[in-house]
Amino acid sequence: MMKSEMAGKFINGTKIADDIKREVSGEVQTLKERGIQPGLAVVLVGDDAASSAYVNMKAKTCEQLGIYSRKLTIPSSVTTEQLLAEVQKLNQDNAIDGILVQLPLPKQVNKHVILEGVDPRKDVDGFHSANVGSLVLGHETLVACTPSGVMELLHRSNVKIEGANAVVLGRSDDVGKPQALLLMHANATVTICHSKTRNLPEIVRQGDIVVAAIGKTAMVKREWVKPGAVVIDVGTNRVSDREEIQRLFGDDPVRWKDFEKRGYVWAGDVDERGVKEVASLLTPVPGGVGPMTIAILMKNTLKAARMRRGL
Ligand code: NAP
Repeated sequence: MMKSEMAGKFINGTKIADDIKREVSGEVQTLKERGIQPGLAVVLVGDDAASSAYVNMKAKTCEQLGIYSRKLTIPSSVTTEQLLAEVQKLNQDNAIDGILVQLPLPKQVNKHVILEGVDPRKDVDGFHSANVGSLVLGHETLVACTPSGVMELLHRSNVKIEGANAVVLGRSDDVGKPQALLLMHANATVTICHSKTRNLPEIVRQGDIVVAAIGKTAMVKREWVKPGAVVIDVGTNRVSDREEIQRLFGDDPVRWKDFEKRGYVWAGDVDERGVKEVASLLTPVPGGVGPMTIAILMKNTLKAARMRRGL
């Protein structure tokens, strides 16, 4: 199903994400010439270091692309009602086109109330039930960033989706479910697997396209993958055990340098070393799906700015 010269190659998500950001930046410029600057508000609750780093990265990317960004930092003791009131203020704010509430939220906050509290027209994460419903119906809408990013990776790598058997591992609301719907709308024949699925390797072996989003380090093995399949690895797992790193990546100097620097390395849900021997295309971790998520967030903010003004 792939062009033969692409066999066994990694998909460079960083490069594709840069292409998308460049396109968004150009379109933001065009809107600005008409007096419109798209704006993104990111709401960070508490002081979790990883969440804070993600939020800062999003703000920095906005700045690079000419998108107005606002960061709201809210104490972790916030109640559902107080957080909802902040979200509602952003719903009313004309400078804001997109609202992203960084997850996870503290235990006392009802996540569903907050996500449903975001104006669906500003829901750049695509988590509001109105947007999920539109996705089910195949209507144009704001769709979750990570699965949308996977579709962009597939399209821009010339993968033929129509008629392909696509196997999605994972059925979460933010990745697996919307991923399966997007692939179905693109005319793939989709199988969704989860923790109760029987004969997982056998099902995965049917896939011309496999999307792994389970959060289990290197679970998808070489023997699970049909020769020539396209394998997209959404998983981001931290591995800090030296023996496991050795087993997964051997003496790869880049991984060991990362380990010395941070005390852990990133690994996907796919056993990269084995699977790249049989797959025609494979996304690396890091540098595959990860950079796409933020690029699509920017694209969704631009889209929300346009849609809200009927453009
Ligand atoms: P999640 O909400 O924890 O969902 C995991 C899914 O995997 C569930 O549907 C679960 O099944 C299924 N699963 C778990 N163990 C399994 C097993 N042994 N066999 C088959 N299925 C199994 O996770 P998520 O939010 O979808 O994220 C998945 C992974 O993607 C994580 O590593 C996450 O960090 C990563 N991620 C990356 C990005 C990015 O930008 N790169 C974005 C989002 C997520 P049940 O439904 O039966 O429990």
